[in-house]
Amino acid sequence: MSPTKTKLLIIGSGPAGYTAAVYASRAMLSPILFQGIQPGGQLTITTEVENWPGEKEILGPDLMKNMEDHARNLGCEIISEHVSKVNLTERPFFVETDSGRQYLTESVILATGAQANWLGLDNEEKYKGFGVSACATCDGFFYKDKIVVVIGGGNMAVEEAIFLTKFASKVYLIHRRDELRAEKILQKRLFENQKIEIIWNKQVKDVLGEDNPLGVTGIQIKDTLSNELSEINCSGVFVAIGHSPASALIKDQLKTFDSGYVSTLPGTTKTSIPGVFAAGDLVDNVYRQAVTSAAMGCMAALDAEKYLSEINNGN
Ligand SMILES: Cc1cc2nc3c(=O)[nH]c(=O)nc-3n(C[C@H](O)[C@H](O)[C@H](O)COP(=O)(O)OP(=O)(O)OC[C@H]3O[C@@H](n4cnc5c(N)ncnc54)[C@H](O)[C@@H]3O)c2cc1C
Repeated sequence: MSPTKTKLLIIGSGPAGYTAAVYASRAMLSPILFQGIQPGGQLTITTEVENWPGEKEILGPDLMKNMEDHARNLGCEIISEHVSKVNLTERPFFVETDSGRQYLTESVILATGAQANWLGLDNEEKYKGFGVSACATCDGFFYKDKIVVVIGGGNMAVEEAIFLTKFASKVYLIHRRDELRAEKILQKRLFENQKIEIIWNKQVKDVLGEDNPLGVTGIQIKDTLSNELSEINCSGVFVAIGHSPASALIKDQLKTFDSGYVSTLPGTTKTSIPGVFAAGDLVDNVYRQAVTSAAMGCMAALDAEKYLSEINNGN
């Protein structure tokens, strides 16, 4: 079967992808969106979201279902498949899905997001959204006057630990070495904060909790020098060991940073290839929020609309 020809493909179904779909559909670009293996993106693995403007409290999966319905109602074609191959070196761009569907498209919006790096502990998955988090900005508010631990030793871990002291009664920073990788200025702020205690040379072995109601009660740690096991009581566990952008699909085709995040022209969603736009956590290693991703999805659709009208007027 010959490839389907289209003006705009959107890869990814998180806030960035669905917002791009809403704007592109309203601009009559007839976009096709691929959901990938996590329809709805990262917010589908969390519980309450309390910082989406206009919703005092909404479950992450419900918010994403609303976005999907919105895009669908406006006429966006939504395909629940993973894109396995893109070729951005020739025009029109070539895209192929896992099932072998092929497309030739004039423009692409990449919104494949990122994933937090996790420790791979036995109970980590079980308590995700119920005490285990990778986002202090998102979940810190739920730990007012509670004890939390942050795991990591880089800038992200130190920033999250300091941020969490706004809410928590006590913050333990657990690090497996005897020095931090974070910038010295951040370390100074960390050491000066009375609410933070650093636990050096400890590796987290598992998350401890209870089933009814599902929630975290502590962590088990191992001393990296003596191998001695011990426990820390806490209600929240923040894993802060970095994020990995889902950029494997376009690796070596687009300009990216060493960390894998896609590079865009400042103030736009334009990538190093005209007609290819990128939005959301795939380009953002700073804010990493639903609302900022959605905003970039909007920008990407507007950038794509402008690009398409320019190339089509030129023909
Ligand atoms: C547990 C948790 C709780 C959070 N809580 C909040 C919160 O309360 N408030 C907040 O603002 N933010 C929160 N965040 C952050 C927020 O979820 C992200 O910033 C946001 O989802 C990023 O949106 P995105 O559209 O860039 O990508 P993502 O949500 O990461 O979605 C990426 C999409 O791309 C798809 N995809 C990837 N590769 C392919 C491919 N090859 N083919 C097709 N599709 C592909 C995936 O299936 C997925 O649909 C939370 C994150 C986590 C993990």
